[in-house]
Amino acid sequence: MRLLTYFSDLPCDEGPWFPVRRMETCEKCKACITACPTDAIESNQHIVNTSKCLTFLNEFAGEFPDWVNKDAHNSIIGCMKCQDCCPKNAHNKNNILKGVTFTEKETLELLIHEIDEPYTGSLKNKIKATGISSDMSKMLLRNLRVLLQNIS
Ligand code: SF4
Ligand code: SF4
Repeated sequence: MRLLTYFSDLPCDEGPWFPVRRMETCEKCKACITACPTDAIESNQHIVNTSKCLTFLNEFAGEFPDWVNKDAHNSIIGCMKCQDCCPKNAHNKNNILKGVTFTEKETLELLIHEIDEPYTGSLKNKIKATGISSDMSKMLLRNLRVLLQNIS
């Protein structure tokens, strides 16, 4: 899922706006707070502090901040720790579409790729098939390196 923002001058006075609120299930559950590797979820409000969320950091150019624990990294793009553990998502556990997979050779190619060079061949096609934008694809190398350090 990707959140996108669109702007329009179309009148929408009748828009169905609701105040921000938690689900009732959240009152007795803190699974996502416990699972979050960067303490990005406010314990009193269960609202994500986006500046601390790995999903944001993974898509933001530059070095990761020092306060991000090395063990926190778990995905090349995004992070699913809070959604994986949520009881409200349990029924979707087996409802996951298989995405693009990279061979070992392609993974090695990613690791030695020059950041400003365009991707070519099968790697280019596979990255395109993931839906990752060309801007974000520059972050792949950094994220992959950090992730591999973490699991090696
Ligand atoms: S894991 Fe799900 S149900 Fe539990 S507190 Fe977080 S959002 Fe609410
Ligand atoms: S996506 Fe990851 S880092 Fe962001 S709030 Fe959820 S568990 Fe925390």
